[in-house]
Formats: sequence, C-alpha cells, structure tokens
Amino acid sequence: MKKISVVTPCYNEAENIEPFHTAITHAFSSLPYELEIVYVNDGSSDTSEERIRALSLRDPRVKYIFFAKNAGQQAATSAGLVHASGDAVMMMDVDLQHPPHLIPDFIERWEEGNEVVFGIRRARSDDSPLRGITSKIAATIIALGEGWRLPRDTSDFSIMDRSVVQAFKKLPPRAVMTRFQVARAARAYAFIPFDVPPRTIGESKYTYKKLLTLLWKSTFGKSLGTLPRYEIKETNIV
Ligand code: UDP
Ligand code: MG
Repeated sequence: MKKISVVTPCYNEAENIEPFHTAITHAFSSLPYELEIVYVNDGSSDTSEERIRALSLRDPRVKYIFFAKNAGQQAATSAGLVHASGDAVMMMDVDLQHPPHLIPDFIERWEEGNEVVFGIRRARSDDSPLRGITSKIAATIIALGEGWRLPRDTSDFSIMDRSVVQAFKKLPPRAVMTRFQVARAARAYAFIPFDVPPRTIGESKYTYKKLLTLLWKSTFGKSLGTLPRYEIKETNIV
C-alpha cells in the first residue's frame, strides 16, 4: 500500500491540534493509503508540544519535529518535507483552512500523474479589508520576484510526488518560500481552486510584522543569505 505523509506547521496552535488530527485520520479512514502525519512545531510558546507528544503516544502514525525557537512557517514546511517518508507528501495548515474533504481530490490528481498539485485560493472569508489588501500586495510582489512561476493565489495546500521531494532536497536554496522551491523541483504542476473557510479556532499567526519580514526575505533573501534556517531540538523520526 502506498504511503502519504501530511506535513503541518504549528505555531501556538494547541487548540487546533486535536481537531486537525481527528479530521485527517477521519479523511484517510476510507482511503486505501497508509498515513503518516508530520507535525512541525515551530517554537510555540503554548502547549502545542505537549499535545503533539501526547498524540504520538496514542497514534504511531504521528511523527513530530520540534524547533528550538520560532523559525517561521517556511522553515517548518521545509523541515517537514525533508523528513517525511511518504510516496507522496501533502502540506496542510493545522487550522483547518485547507479543507480536509478535498484530500481525495488532491490524491486523485497526483495518481493521474501530476508531480505536484497546488491549491489555489479562490476566496478568503476571514480577511479584514486591510489585511486582505496587504496579503494580496505581498503575494503579488513575491510572485513577481519569482517570475510568475506560480499564480499569485497559489497556496501551501498541496500534494507532491516522492520524486519532487527528492529533487527538492538536492536543490540549492533559491527561494525563501517552500512552494517556490517545490515548483523549481518539479517539471509541471496542476492546480485545484478552493474556497478558504474562516479560521474557527485561534487567530492568524501572521502579524503585519511577520508578513513584511516574509516579503523582505523573499525579495532580498537570496542576496542577504536569509534563507530559512531552523534548529531541531526534538523529533521522533529516526
Ligand atoms: N505557522 C508557523 N509558523 C509561523 C506562523 C504560522 O508554523 O511563524 C503555521 C500556522 O500554525 C498555520 C500555518 O502556518 O498552521 C498558516 O498560518 P496562519 O493560519 O496563521 O496564516 P493565514 O492562514 O492567516 O495566512
Ligand atoms: Mg490560517
């Protein structure tokens, strides 16, 4: 049976971990795939770590990577990809804004032979107008800086083949954002448009400061040498 890894970055998401786990395991219960879930705790200051560790004792499909300190979502997804072992790897936010009911569609498109399938954000229901405009401007500048390799509203919600993961690992770091590195590692990609549901638990972890830092690093990171770096303090992946 083929194995699928679901990689999820977590930053102060203690209340989201259990609902996410339930939703993912439920979605896979009727699918003919072995499952692994890689929780990457990005230096949370809440009880995310304890929650993930407790889950791992209950469910052997739970793998975890704990960062020594907050290194950012891009570092977290990148670390998760490097350590995932599935025939395909999915990336999903832990706040359920990447709807688990779409998992079968992503898998189907991958099984059709697409090396990478990216979700495209169709509408976001929870943005304040200012936040919405700021995110769009940031996404436009980042996409432009990457030569429109991917459409502006491409999200991290994605699935990729093991061959792409292997190529990703060998690729010299060129982009701060994981999805652009993934895009470089693949020859072709497919897209699935989806509506982003509102976050029901907790708040967005993207403060304006974080958004601007990401923008700055994605634009100048290559020359400044500020590509994602992280320190792993604990993992159960052998
Ligand atoms: N995240 C992370 N490190 C950070 C910020 C966010 O690992 O420094 C994670 C977060 O826990 C979530 C995902 O990245 O699983 C997306 O973050 P968020 O939902 O806050 O972003 P938004 O959906 O508002 O763009
Ligand atoms: Mg979110």
